[in-house]
Amino acid sequence: MSVVAIDGPSGVGKSSTAKETARRLGYSYLDTGAMYRAMAWLCLNRGVTDPVDVLEQVRGVDLEISTDPDEFFVSVDGIDVSEEIREPEVSENVQTVSAVVDAREELIDMQRTIIAAAPEGIVVEGRDITTVVAPDAEVRILMTARDEVRVARRAKELHGNADAEALAATQSQVTGRDAKDSATTSFLEASEGVYTLDTSDIDFDQVVETVLKLVKD
Ligand code: C5P
Repeated sequence: MSVVAIDGPSGVGKSSTAKETARRLGYSYLDTGAMYRAMAWLCLNRGVTDPVDVLEQVRGVDLEISTDPDEFFVSVDGIDVSEEIREPEVSENVQTVSAVVDAREELIDMQRTIIAAAPEGIVVEGRDITTVVAPDAEVRILMTARDEVRVARRAKELHGNADAEALAATQSQVTGRDAKDSATTSFLEASEGVYTLDTSDIDFDQVVETVLKLVKD
């Protein structure tokens, strides 16, 4: 069973790359960010902010996530939150969960269980996959892109365009979340043996081809 681990900051194109790579290889796909988002949604919904209470929510939750790259869903305690987890309110509050070390441990355990159950191979994306979740993965990649490129990509996703207004609205969201995330996970620099894939000046197909080549080599 092969594991392809992909880390990187927000807006770098991890999800679309990981999904397409999984499809092309016939592998499963795991979006670990969606697990943090789903727990953040639950905590927001229940008014939970204290780290001790966050941990209790994570320990008690029934979290289900699809590993099919063609059909995404995530649910918490039987509630399908696949769409809700993309709301700006969730993005803004996700660190209520991801900054709690013990809550991370619980989610990392779940992630490892899902990885071990994948029938063929699995492409896993997040912030700490190459370093903590699956440091022994056959292929480990850190995707990067210049800040302005990532902000433009995320603006297009969120607002449908990258005009001045959309860029201004997106800038602080993207760089602010990365700055906070980098306090808990080390995704800004590749650790030893991790391949840095700078996507700033190449298109999506070239990114996917590069990942596939790394898997096949
Ligand atoms: O990848 P995505 O932007 O959906 O991740 C949402 C948030 O989940 C990140 O900003 C980060 O706080 C957290 N996260 C994490 N570790 C991961 C994946 C995501 O801390 N492996």
